[in-house]
Amino acid sequence: MFEQISAAPADPILGLTEAFKADPRDTKINLGVGIYKDEAGQTPILATVKKAEAILLESEKTKSYLSIEGNAAYGAAVQALLFGKASNIVSNKRARTAQAPGGTGALRIAAEFYASQFENKKVWVSNPTWANHNNVFAAAGLEIVQYNYYNADAKDMDFDAMLSSLEGAAAGDLVLFHGCCHNPTGIDPTEAQWQQLAALSAEKGWLPLFDFAYQGFGSGVEEDAKGLRIFTEANQELLVASSFSKNFGLYNERVGAFTLVAKCSDTAETAFSQAKSLIRANYSNPPAHGAAVVTTILNDAALYAEWDKEVAEMRDRIQQMRDLFVATLKEKGVDRDFSFIARQNGMFSFSGLTKEQVATLKDEHGLYIVGSGRISVAGMTRNNMDALCSAIAAVI
Ligand code: PMP
Repeated sequence: MFEQISAAPADPILGLTEAFKADPRDTKINLGVGIYKDEAGQTPILATVKKAEAILLESEKTKSYLSIEGNAAYGAAVQALLFGKASNIVSNKRARTAQAPGGTGALRIAAEFYASQFENKKVWVSNPTWANHNNVFAAAGLEIVQYNYYNADAKDMDFDAMLSSLEGAAAGDLVLFHGCCHNPTGIDPTEAQWQQLAALSAEKGWLPLFDFAYQGFGSGVEEDAKGLRIFTEANQELLVASSFSKNFGLYNERVGAFTLVAKCSDTAETAFSQAKSLIRANYSNPPAHGAAVVTTILNDAALYAEWDKEVAEMRDRIQQMRDLFVATLKEKGVDRDFSFIARQNGMFSFSGLTKEQVATLKDEHGLYIVGSGRISVAGMTRNNMDALCSAIAAVI
């Protein structure tokens, strides 16, 4: 039977990692996948994660199953992080959270929940967006519609075009927003733009879905929740898919969360029962370890403060690399204006490099970048900066 099967296309981002690993050149540089690297080019385990793991090693008494939605203390900690401890969403129990296997798992729960419960089947995503959004939403049977987001000439957001394309989104349509650090452009709405989007969403009756994979990588853990919190003021119902892969460095532990906010606690409970039933049919109940680490850190004041500092260190290092990248390209005599890179947020920016330039960079210089020209700034270090800027200077 299996002879009939044709090969699936390689994933554009993870496929690139495979090619990078197989490349024998010791000068190779990977700016493809979104993984944080420190100055030494390593992806370290956070000190707070090590401390939480030591606590768990001593205190854990069982490996018995968690419930379908996972640990309640985790759900509470996630909600405080998203909405703030004093939020009425928390005090009025308007939210329910399911521990999920990564942000991707959380997105899939959101997509299947939406697809199974409502007549509408459209999900609106920014053009461009993280490539896997399309896979996840298509797998859940949703029709994907793009809204304008990026002005390639200005290397900036095209907010007017965004608003006008979203005019087409009907009441009940699912509309995806990146909570912060938009992937792949690195460009987020301003506070005033978030206000406008939130008001439009309430007026039109969309169901907003926030993909929140980089909380803390923009301006700060609290600051980065601004857009989401503005939305919750105007919109009584929304969904959030959180990922803790990046801000806790827990990539391979698969830690995420699906959060549903409803008008009142009873409605939240009933709606959430449907999410639980599809989780049961999917992976039954979540893995425990990574979420236990996150809960231990978020619920301990000293560990929380130390983690907040560790996130700030990662954020600051990326910002330094943005500035150094722009300065080094200038030094190499590149006259194209790359200053937009220094103004953007999070791990990624759209470099504006063409598919052909990206291919030459890989083949001739061992520099790996996603075909769209998206670069992971988090892969830059003081050590590889000179080589990577020389390579880019050579191709443009
Ligand atoms: N959303 C976005 C925008 C992402 O960039 C990522 C990770 N690359 C995810 C979700 C999923 O994260 P996870 O690895 O936790 O599944």
